Amino acid sequence: MKDISDLFGSMVFSDEVMKARLPKETYKALKKTVSEGTPLEIDVANVVAGVMKDWALEKGATHFTHWFQPMTGNTAEKHDSFIEPDDGGKVIMAFSGKALVKGEPDASSFPSGGLRATFEARGYTVWDVTSFAFVKDGTLFIPTAFCSYSGEALDKKTPLLRSMEAVDRQAIRILRLFGNTTAQHVSTTVGPEQEYFLIDKEMFLKRPDLVYTGRTLFGARPPKGQELEDHYFGCLKPRISAYMKELDEELWKLGVYAKTKHNEVAPAQHELAPIFSTTNIATDHNQLTMELMKSIATKHGLACLLHEKPFAGVNGNGKHNNWSIATDTGINLLEPGETPYENAQFLLFLTAVIKAVDDYQDLLRVSVASAGNDHRLGANEAPPAIVSVFLGEELTAIMEAIDAGTAYKDREKDQMEIGVSVLPHFPKDSTDRNRTSPFAFTGNKFEFRMVGSAFSIAGPNIVLNTVVAETLRQFAEILEEAKDFKADLSALIKKTFHEHKRIIFNGNNYAEEWTVEAQKRGLSNLRTTVDTLPEFVSGKSVDLFTKHGVFTGNEIYSRYEILLDSYCKTLHIEALTMIDIVKGKIIPACVDFQNDLVKLLQKKKACGDYDVSLEENLLGNIAKLSACLPKKLTVLEELLESKEETEVLAHAIFYRDKVISAMSELRFIVDELETLVAGKYWPIPVYAQMLYSVV
Ligand code: ADP
Ligand code: MG
Repeated sequence: MKDISDLFGSMVFSDEVMKARLPKETYKALKKTVSEGTPLEIDVANVVAGVMKDWALEKGATHFTHWFQPMTGNTAEKHDSFIEPDDGGKVIMAFSGKALVKGEPDASSFPSGGLRATFEARGYTVWDVTSFAFVKDGTLFIPTAFCSYSGEALDKKTPLLRSMEAVDRQAIRILRLFGNTTAQHVSTTVGPEQEYFLIDKEMFLKRPDLVYTGRTLFGARPPKGQELEDHYFGCLKPRISAYMKELDEELWKLGVYAKTKHNEVAPAQHELAPIFSTTNIATDHNQLTMELMKSIATKHGLACLLHEKPFAGVNGNGKHNNWSIATDTGINLLEPGETPYENAQFLLFLTAVIKAVDDYQDLLRVSVASAGNDHRLGANEAPPAIVSVFLGEELTAIMEAIDAGTAYKDREKDQMEIGVSVLPHFPKDSTDRNRTSPFAFTGNKFEFRMVGSAFSIAGPNIVLNTVVAETLRQFAEILEEAKDFKADLSALIKKTFHEHKRIIFNGNNYAEEWTVEAQKRGLSNLRTTVDTLPEFVSGKSVDLFTKHGVFTGNEIYSRYEILLDSYCKTLHIEALTMIDIVKGKIIPACVDFQNDLVKLLQKKKACGDYDVSLEENLLGNIAKLSACLPKKLTVLEELLESKEETEVLAHAIFYRDKVISAMSELRFIVDELETLVAGKYWPIPVYAQMLYSVV
């Protein structure tokens, strides 16, 4: 293998490459665009495009694509070759500034939630200069934002960039109040930990439910699950290890800081964590990571499952969104500092996040809502549907002391000027022992654990950035008017904590008592996607997003419709797949097995006075259970055909209340049958086979 430092970023048109290859003036102009958001002049774009193309050709590229992130949550690409005919009937390789900066994919089939009428179906893509271009599989990928001609965002990147700008604007106001004149910009940073399952590809292909829906729709519990916790951090099997090695290398080539890999709690479950970067880059890189996880799995005869709950009763897949705020001078604003001033600034940013999470619990819940994640949130293994903040004992005690106006422990001598205690150096690892919290402070960042594994992290971070921007805005309004900055700052921290401490919970979030306690505290508990999504179009939400220029009202409404529609479609496909499997595989298998049992019975009886109670019992049980199947199938089929509800929310409620329960009833019978029908007759691999399929 090449030296990793040579390998790393070798397929990226990085800052280093630009610096080395672009004329000085062009490089400077481009940098200015990146840091100040100034428009890119076409003559600069032409030079960049030429150099980029030559570099890409050296890396074996023949095509280029504007890579974008439509509202499906996946990424999209349409490849154009560089060829242009020349006069002599041959071709030259060409790439203009115009083609670099702007594209017009005929992307009319992407969901737009009514943002584009079909007659103006074309949207356009614009180069996002803050994310580097790269070469993958012979194509130059140019990260882009995707908008309609009326300027409305049709993607996830545009609002994400807008939300980062919102935090930037407000956080800089706060920093200036603390006398910081050096930081020009503030960005949010993210390190998303990605969980996934790997199973044998052959097993995968034998399960139509996994192929069509990403999760198993049937399956009795395996005799051995994760009870022994022997898989967690266990040693890697050679096949898995080879897969992870290739995955790391391919990610490194693309400049993704893949850092940590290990086995997770459930059998066949693993995790990859990168080193954090700015939220925009982290989002692009997480999309790439998910894509490569899948494509590299295929090369190794494996299938990578990114669904939030591929196996019922087995740990689900989450994505831990580690989030912080940093200045362009490299200061992490959620890192407790050394001096009283830094400490006060830290406490202000910390309380801003606490207040933001409390004020906008529902929007954070919206940002992680999907049919897939409904299986996880609220089940007894993932964070619950109730949003709360874990601060850790020590930081909570400090905040309580501030609230009570008492000194923290015996640190009176460290009492700082602004009237709050100097923060002690609490060791980082003492803060992160609560794995049940949906939103945990882990020493110098917050870890948002409710995000589903299959999600684009754009959505959760759009919300997180915007709600924190709003709180910082409110703080800035107050503090900019302050007569006595120190006194007002201290009062603000104290008041804010006091008003929002109901959101702090350091206990076990899985405990039943927490649900009761949370209700007493007035926290929301939105259990399903359908309960949650209407919060997205509430007046409070529209006010927030429009105020910060993150979404227009139309953009919110269109996304709301797309999310509800996708919820219904997901369930519809799952239900159809169930019907298919039961009709095409389960019923025939039950019939075959019964047939053979009957033959055996007849033989035994014909041969004399054998004990046939076993066969008779088994036959009786299977006959009884399988006889229920047609009725359950009919119920489900009729539900799917009914066209009663046309309004999208009512439609989603119908799926949640009617279709899901019909699916569960069907599943219950099939899972019972699985335990009765002999293994060699059972038509699809069972849980134990899949979960222990990689040896
Ligand atoms: P663990 O959560 O297992 O203790 P770490 O705390 O080291 O591990 O990091 C978990 C993830 O958090 C990593 O992806 C890491 O890059 C990310 N992370 C660390 N610091 C920050 C930060 N300031 N902003 C965003 N993410 C961060
Ligand atoms: Mg972590």
